[in-house]
This record gives sequence, C-alpha cells and structure tokens, in this order.
Amino acid sequence: MAGVRLPLQSHPLQALVSEPVKPVLDCVVMSNTVHVYVSQSDKGELVMGAGIDAFNSYAQRGSFPIIEAQIAATLELFPIFSRLKMLRSWAGIVDVSPDASPIIGKLPVAGLYLNGGWGTGGFKATPGAAHLFAWTIAHDEPHPINAPFTIERFRDGHLIDRIPSRHDLKSDILRTKIQAVERGLSRLRAKYDEMTRSRVLRHCRCNNPNCPTYFFDPPDAARELERLRRDVLTAFRDAYPAFKPPSW
Ligand SMILES: Cc1cc2nc3c(=O)[nH]c(=O)nc-3n(C[C@H](O)[C@H](O)[C@H](O)COP(=O)(O)OP(=O)(O)OC[C@H]3O[C@@H](n4cnc5c(N)ncnc54)[C@H](O)[C@@H]3O)c2cc1C
Repeated sequence: MAGVRLPLQSHPLQALVSEPVKPVLDCVVMSNTVHVYVSQSDKGELVMGAGIDAFNSYAQRGSFPIIEAQIAATLELFPIFSRLKMLRSWAGIVDVSPDASPIIGKLPVAGLYLNGGWGTGGFKATPGAAHLFAWTIAHDEPHPINAPFTIERFRDGHLIDRIPSRHDLKSDILRTKIQAVERGLSRLRAKYDEMTRSRVLRHCRCNNPNCPTYFFDPPDAARELERLRRDVLTAFRDAYPAFKPPSW
C-alpha cells in the first residue's frame, strides 16, 4: 500500500505436542547440534519444535520430513520418549529476512516504521524490541541498539553478523580453544544454578524485580563464582588474544 517492498520471506514453522505424562522434564532442552527443543507443559504434554520448512508458504501446515527429523533428534537426546504418542502438530507462518535478523526502524516513507522479520525468535524478543521501537517512533530515529537493523542494510550490504558455530571453524586449534570457553561457561552457569537452588545466592528482598543486588551466604561463596568467571575470560583471551577482559 505504501509502495515499500520488504525483503522478507514467509515460511511455515511447526510445533508438536505429545500425550500428557507425569513430570519428567523440569527445564527446556534445546540442541543446535541435533536441532530440536523440548519442554514439558504444566498439563504434562511434551512440547517440541525445530526449524522452519525450507519452502515459502502461507498454508499453516508444515511438511512431514521436518517432523520426522525433529522426532529423530528428540530420540537422540531422550530415547525413552520413543514410547510416547504425538497428540497434535501445527504450523504458524514466520517472516524471515535474508540475514535472519529483524528489521526495526524507519521506512523510506516519512512517518512509517517497521518492526518485523523476526523469524523464529519474535516472542522472546518482544519486551526489548517494543522498547526500542517506541524509542524509534518517539525520536523519529533509531535507538543506538537497533541502529544497524535498518531495511537499507539489504541494499548497502551491512548485514547483521552472527557468530559462526564452532563446527564451522576450520582450525582445530581454534575449535579446541572455543570448546574450552564453552565448557567454562557451562561450569559457571551450573554453579550459578546450584547456588541459586541451594539459596547460597539470594536476590535482594526489596521487592523491586529490577534490583540488581544479590547476596551470598556465606559471603565466601562469591569467590568461587568469581574464579569460574575468570576462567572463562582467560579461556576466551587464549582464543582471541586482542580481548581485554572488562574487569578482573
Ligand atoms: C510454532 C511456532 C513456535 C514459535 N516459538 C517461538 C518461541 O519459542 N520463541 C520465540 O521467541 N518465537 C517463537 N516463534 C516465532 C514468533 O511467533 C514470531 O517471531 C512472532 O510472532 C513474530 O511477530 P510479528 O508481530 O513480527 O509477526 P506475526 O506474529 O506473524 O504477526 C503478523 C500479523 O500480520 C498479519 N498480516 C499479514 N499480512 C497482512 C495484511 N496484508 N494485512 C493485515 N494484516 C496482515 C498477520 O495475520 C499477523 O497477525 C514461534 C512461531 C511458531 C509458528
């Protein structure tokens, strides 16, 4: 209507749900290696999804090979789920841009703005995206965070870079170093989760959900997290010597 052509393509994205079972999974498991995510709903159903169908469509139904691949991936992670029956599957349509990142910004028509092209990740980004979009409309110019996410990037070639997967790296040495960073990060994360669960690490009780203050009990426990944090930074500097750790 406004004469603006959008560089977006529409693809089906499927999800499926199993019959309900007793609680077996208390977190979301997501694997980019075998490519599936699975979680258990409050009703006991396992909710699973994977990637988009490669073809363009508005049909709101996906193709069977995608379901087959996502079930195969689920069974690689959890062989015991092979005995479950699937209840239903469905597909929604997601709009995908050429660099798989959204467009948030002004359009060539004065007073017209776009927040779209979110592909498979638009729900979780909504609070941040809405904040940036509101800022863009109020100031009639993008916030510094969404400044690179223009529609013009597809004309000018300034696409949004993404960190390549470790599996894309050709150098064995670099791959090993990146693996050390990943291991360090998961150790840090596991320790953080463990301390939160055991209440060694507790959020401030001021009732402000945005308050960044946490307490350690005993206070010494902070050292353990700090040691793991430094390990990650050291491993990262080993992979990328120009990196200057923010604080030690
Ligand atoms: C099965 C599935 C699972 C998903 N899981 C997740 C997840 O776990 N986490 C996550 O972050 N994201 C997830 N997503 C992606 C998320 O749904 C999208 O990224 C998000 O909905 C995009 O929001 P949007 O407002 O940009 O577009 P949409 O939600 O697609 O909204 C576009 C709207 O425009 C309307 N429209 C289209 N053409 C016209 C027209 N010509 N005139 C008027 N109206 C029109 C459409 O009817 C639609 O209501 C999932 C999507 C699917 C399908």
